[in-house]
Amino acid sequence: MFDNISTKFSSIMKNLSGKGKITEKNIRDAVEDIKMSLLDADVNLRVVRKFINSTLEEALGEKVLLSVDPGQQFTKIVYDKMVALLGDESGQELKLKGKDTTSVILMMGLQGSGKTTTAHKLALKLTKEGRKVMLVAADLVRPAAITQLQVLGEKVGVRVFTIPGEKNPVKVATEAVKTARHELYDTVIIDTSGRMHLDDTLMKEIQDIAKAVNPDETLFVADAMTGQNAVTIAKEFEEKVGISGVILSKFDSDTRGGAALSLKSVVGKPIKFIGTGEKSEDLEAFHPDRIASRILGMGDVVSLVEKAQQAFDKDEAERLAKKMQKNTFDLQDYLDQLENMNKMGSVDKLIEMIPGAKGNISEEDINLKEVEVEKAIIKSMTKFERANYRIIGPSRRKRIAKGSGTSVADVNRLLKKFEKSKLMMKKLLGNKKLQASMLSKMGM
Ligand code: GDP
Repeated sequence: MFDNISTKFSSIMKNLSGKGKITEKNIRDAVEDIKMSLLDADVNLRVVRKFINSTLEEALGEKVLLSVDPGQQFTKIVYDKMVALLGDESGQELKLKGKDTTSVILMMGLQGSGKTTTAHKLALKLTKEGRKVMLVAADLVRPAAITQLQVLGEKVGVRVFTIPGEKNPVKVATEAVKTARHELYDTVIIDTSGRMHLDDTLMKEIQDIAKAVNPDETLFVADAMTGQNAVTIAKEFEEKVGISGVILSKFDSDTRGGAALSLKSVVGKPIKFIGTGEKSEDLEAFHPDRIASRILGMGDVVSLVEKAQQAFDKDEAERLAKKMQKNTFDLQDYLDQLENMNKMGSVDKLIEMIPGAKGNISEEDINLKEVEVEKAIIKSMTKFERANYRIIGPSRRKRIAKGSGTSVADVNRLLKKFEKSKLMMKKLLGNKKLQASMLSKMGM
């Protein structure tokens, strides 16, 4: 998502930055380039016009032209406008009641938009936040929908409420909420029927369910891959049923990003979450400021640090830091670190978050194969070998290479690299000042 637009924006901003003085013409040219990039990204025409006019108006003010670093001032204006376009931080959170009562979330969207998948992702997310969640299969139109939700619910350990044989979705929804209240569930997520296209009968069905269960959140799932169409349909749902927020699914797809950039402005409702893959964990809160940074090629350091924090828990990080301090860091610790790297997710997603990395670092630059080889080698070692790498002589090396499907040269390379890093660590330990600064950077 946003690959093209982000590359273009980066180059527009690069052209202006560092210039001691910029002219009105420079700004007009840059704004024209921004306009073309937004149109190329399939952003709604009205939204583009509004964005361009307000950017131009502010950028042509004296504040930019006469400032010390006009390029930077200009970037700041574009960034602020972009954040405003994508939403505002206050509207992003789900508005649910406390855990002592039952909140209801109604999911809706076209068939294939990712509604059922998103419902179970949301169930997992809220469960992790300590809520007691019930999923409700009220999609009685698509034949396999109930089973699909049951399978997904089981995967994330969330109960799925169904009434076998029942044909009336309003009945299923109301019974579900009643049961949830009775059994002290604090959150009910209702999956409703999808539709191939806008259809009055099905729209009425959703209206009836909404009226019957009075949801706290009515979330519309929009498929990012359908571009402007997602915006049109969201608008229709907002007018007919009323929505409180949007979840943009398939954000990981190779789409141009126009939907994400137009939805808030056209529909007037915030994007609350984005679906970033097919797995149960692939649902992220939508942060307008972070996405704006990504689009402008400024990276998204906050998300990167959060991902790292999720992958490396604090106790683990402290344990490793202590080991490094005492220089008792062994091959098992090294393997743990390699495994943690995997937990952070796919490399291309991570690259997008590193400032300035876009277009400069590619996935190939990060040698994933080597990581896999190293992991296989360490896994073929005994516990004792992992803790005492010096005892690994020629015959052990041969055995390890064979066991891991690698070569003795691979094993040699890993051990040499490990030895070198141990030596470096020893040197570092001799330098107290450097050590203190590194530890403070690691948040310790
Ligand atoms: P529904 O008809 O709206 O309930 O749609 P489904 O939940 O069955 O999803 C349709 C397809 O989209 C499935 O193959 C999902 O795995 C896929 N899907 C849903 N959300 C995402 C996402 O965020 N990223 C990707 N890559 N695929 C998704």
